Amino acid sequence: MQMLSTRGAAAVSPAEAILRGLAPDGGLYAPAQFPAFSREDVLALVPMSYQERAYAVLSRFLPDFGENALCAAISAAYGSGFDSEAVAPVRTIAGDTYALELWHGPTLAFKDMALQLLPRLLAESARMLGEKREIFILVATSGDTGKAALEGFLDAPGTRCCVFYPQNGVSQAQRLQMVTTGGSNTHVIAVEGNFDDAQTGVKRIFSDAAFAREMDAQGRVLSSANSINFGRLAPQIVYYFSAYADLLAAGAIEMGQRVNFCVPTGNFGDILAADYAGKAGLPVGRLICASNENNVLTDFIRTGCYDIRSRAFYKTISPSMDILISSNLERLLYDLSGCDAQRVAALMEALRTERRYQIDAAMHARLCERYAAGCAGEAAVRAEIARAWREDRYLMDTHTAVASAVLRDYRRETGDSAPAVIVSTASPYKFGASVLEAIAGHQAVQGKDDFACCDALSALTGTAVPPQILALPTLPIRHTAVCPKDGMEQAVLGVLGK
Ligand SMILES: *Cc1c(COP(=O)(O)O)cnc(C)c1O
Repeated sequence: MQMLSTRGAAAVSPAEAILRGLAPDGGLYAPAQFPAFSREDVLALVPMSYQERAYAVLSRFLPDFGENALCAAISAAYGSGFDSEAVAPVRTIAGDTYALELWHGPTLAFKDMALQLLPRLLAESARMLGEKREIFILVATSGDTGKAALEGFLDAPGTRCCVFYPQNGVSQAQRLQMVTTGGSNTHVIAVEGNFDDAQTGVKRIFSDAAFAREMDAQGRVLSSANSINFGRLAPQIVYYFSAYADLLAAGAIEMGQRVNFCVPTGNFGDILAADYAGKAGLPVGRLICASNENNVLTDFIRTGCYDIRSRAFYKTISPSMDILISSNLERLLYDLSGCDAQRVAALMEALRTERRYQIDAAMHARLCERYAAGCAGEAAVRAEIARAWREDRYLMDTHTAVASAVLRDYRRETGDSAPAVIVSTASPYKFGASVLEAIAGHQAVQGKDDFACCDALSALTGTAVPPQILALPTLPIRHTAVCPKDGMEQAVLGVLGK
């Protein structure tokens, strides 16, 4: 299988696409053709473990990886770090509505599903391609991705990971999760600025030729762990197949029956993986793209016009979806245009210069065949958390609640009653204060820090606080570096020199 750049650069192997991250023309790598899973291939997944399903799916998307290396990477990624043997269990919320829980990994959010595997795929790609330098991953985070990357790269051979976070821009629990990270190849630096400053600084380092030379002299090469890397997308395709196999195993659906997936969306990586699963033969029904108040994707899917001019940026209680430019949308545009790289490059240029673009009627028709979209405001999200707990005894986090609220609207508006899987992306305890407030009201959280809120949520619902949260206040702080926003290069060299 070959990977093509969405902007037309020469085809490469999956291993090379993973090692590079971004194509040299600034495009994203997408599969030139999709594997075709037959009914029998899907049925064969039913009795398998998650790890076996992962191999069955990934070996078809990453055929250049050897069986032994891929199996070893998968079993190391989805092992004891997960608190559920199913890895990504499907739970019934009510009737034909299910939750695919992707937060049973070490950092309690769905980023683990990809970031536990990516470092191992990267190391194997480097080995196959004869890259001897240490792979140095730079990440700017607004909270969840940083810890998931640190945990994934922790002591992964041949790699090193450095995370920048905005000094006053992450929650108490998120900061502690990062600065208590162990391992000999992890670095965490606070930036005196906001997330945009950290993100801009990382981009600047990536395009700094002198910095690249210095890294090369140190035997290092820079790479990326954010969701533009196909190595992050591929592991996410697996859990859609796995969820379908679980529904078959439970007798909830029959082989071939279409299942809708409702996905809380930010950078469009998670929902695109569902689309890729469908293109590879999984009977995927409607893909319902759920947004919070930052609803640029809702408007795009409904109208075909992506417009970020004079759009306010809202800080919401589902912060991992607070995003205006969804980078993975470029892969969808590539597909909708019939792999027309020139067209995609023109749309991306329009977004950069005019801050908007419009797809043509044919592309929009194709989009609407597969996707639906909706958004939920803050009050609707809180109400949905409370409703799901009261009526279904299902405790959901703020991101999952966006999807749950949007799915209810979708069903009401369309009458589409097909079985639906809500993709549940974070543990309710990762956003314990917001979840507690939604269920028990504002007084319940007043005067409490994140940890006290989690204790109260546990007492109220009879569910357990995850050990990762309980341990946080007792772990030693190992990373204390702070840097000004224009001093990030020097800060990296400083922590590397230590
Ligand atoms: C990253 C994230 C999302 C959004 O996923 P995308 O792939 O960026 O669309 C949703 N929920 C949580 C909890 C996340 O961490």
